[in-house]
Amino acid sequence: MAPKNKFTRQDTLRGSLLPERTWWDVTMYRLEMTPNLQKFSITGKNTILFRIVKTPRNRMQIDLQEPMLIDSARLNNIPVTFSQEGNAWFINLPQQKMPRSLPQNQLPGKDPLQQLEIWYQGVPKPALRAPWDGGIVWSKDKKGNPWIGTACQGLGASVWWPCKDHQSDEPDSVSVAVTVPDTLMNISNGRLRNVTSNGNQTKTYTWFVSQPINTYNVTMNIGKYVHFSDTLQGEKGTLDLDYYVLEYNLEKAQKQFQQVKPMLHAFEYWFGPYPFYEDGYKLVETSYLGMEHQSAVAYGNQYMNGYRGTDLSGTGRGKNWDFIIIHESGHEWFGNNISTKDVADMWVHEGFTNYSETLYITYLYGTEAGNEYVQGIRKNISNDKPVIGPYDVNKEGSGDMYYKASNLIHMIRQITDNDSLFRQLLRDMNQRYYHSTVTSAEIEAFLSARTGYNLKKTFDQYLRTTQVPSLEYYTTELNGALMLHYRWAQCIEGFNMPIKLPGGPGKYGLLLASTNWQQLRTSFTTMDELTKALDKNFYVTYKQVQQ
Ligand SMILES: [Zn+2]
Repeated sequence: MAPKNKFTRQDTLRGSLLPERTWWDVTMYRLEMTPNLQKFSITGKNTILFRIVKTPRNRMQIDLQEPMLIDSARLNNIPVTFSQEGNAWFINLPQQKMPRSLPQNQLPGKDPLQQLEIWYQGVPKPALRAPWDGGIVWSKDKKGNPWIGTACQGLGASVWWPCKDHQSDEPDSVSVAVTVPDTLMNISNGRLRNVTSNGNQTKTYTWFVSQPINTYNVTMNIGKYVHFSDTLQGEKGTLDLDYYVLEYNLEKAQKQFQQVKPMLHAFEYWFGPYPFYEDGYKLVETSYLGMEHQSAVAYGNQYMNGYRGTDLSGTGRGKNWDFIIIHESGHEWFGNNISTKDVADMWVHEGFTNYSETLYITYLYGTEAGNEYVQGIRKNISNDKPVIGPYDVNKEGSGDMYYKASNLIHMIRQITDNDSLFRQLLRDMNQRYYHSTVTSAEIEAFLSARTGYNLKKTFDQYLRTTQVPSLEYYTTELNGALMLHYRWAQCIEGFNMPIKLPGGPGKYGLLLASTNWQQLRTSFTTMDELTKALDKNFYVTYKQVQQ
């Protein structure tokens, strides 16, 4: 783990929960903005409704990244002063107008709503390589029409609008009103409330998200879109499916998006009901590859199957479905329904979502097909640094949060040794942490409790080190039987992950291995047969050693 002192004060302001952030809890963001398509700038206002949950400080921290500027602000209709420290802005509270402590007999969170209005403007950082390099994506479609999107995961929503930019505080609702030329449309999250003509060749599209949402998921998509829709009869009733694509791609989209319904059925089977029936499900065509924008998933895979036409697993199992439709929609359960408080723990978003690809394949093509896929993607693991990143500085861990964490979840499935139990575990996890924010530690404890094994050392090994454990083994003969001797090596002290070992052709036992030698009587006759039968579903190395 990197030493903390290599981080800056700005990293701390962005990634920590300092007192200026924790005394207030966001209830709602009401965004109104007008992008200038010629100047690549935005002028806007955000009205933040919040509740006081602790004795208020003199200041509150609002994030808005340079070079964007706050012009003015009012708290409960009273103009307030503020100061800037890089990407953090500190709003000074008017002394006489705010309660200095919570009134007696009043529970935190039950005080009246406070209202902070912020007027802001500037040229937000453009995203040059979206979605990996975040910001606003200013582009044009093939016919020369403006086509604008947002991609700010990691970097943060504060690159284009002022907010409390920390994943631990999700607003309960958001409204997004964007004013665009009347020849174009704006698509944001949630449901379209209204479209108003402003009489000056512009229209304002107002969208409303009625469920908690991560700030980085809030989006605007401006373009010459056409709309088509469908419905899905799902576990919670009728789910509205809405699609916004470029006019000239309508036919391709109508064909490619037929993958949506089987995907949603597969995910509801494994994870429980789609978490945002109230806001509907949408795919919105974007100029960049994709992003899990809640209830308005960004789609830019160009109507090809695979990941831009390729199979990330190299097994053939990843090429007959659209990677972006499947992966980004998987995030509706992992990332959007269950969100981590700190991006350091983002394996909970990406590991489970990556594994949703395997479960999708399993649902449609069977267990063996899914197993091949998850084993195939191991070639993308780099073991360069731990999966969990440093806390409180808004830094992610290794990109192994995708493929390695996915393989970790696959092993947990082997350890439950029963797919209906594993499925129930995933469904309960989505229920238990419904619309909430979590830490890795909470998820680890939940998984240990539900599998019945203390997996602490397993999580430490796979999430907090880069070492792949090795199962060392050799055989001896006893009364004509081949005895398998095994132990864990190349691992942290006390590593004790249960593993499935072959007792004979087609017979597997889940065994508690440790760093001490143990033995198992098998019905194999040769070492070769035994070696071939070692379970490839575990992401470990098997190493035959001398007795
Ligand atoms: Zn993802």
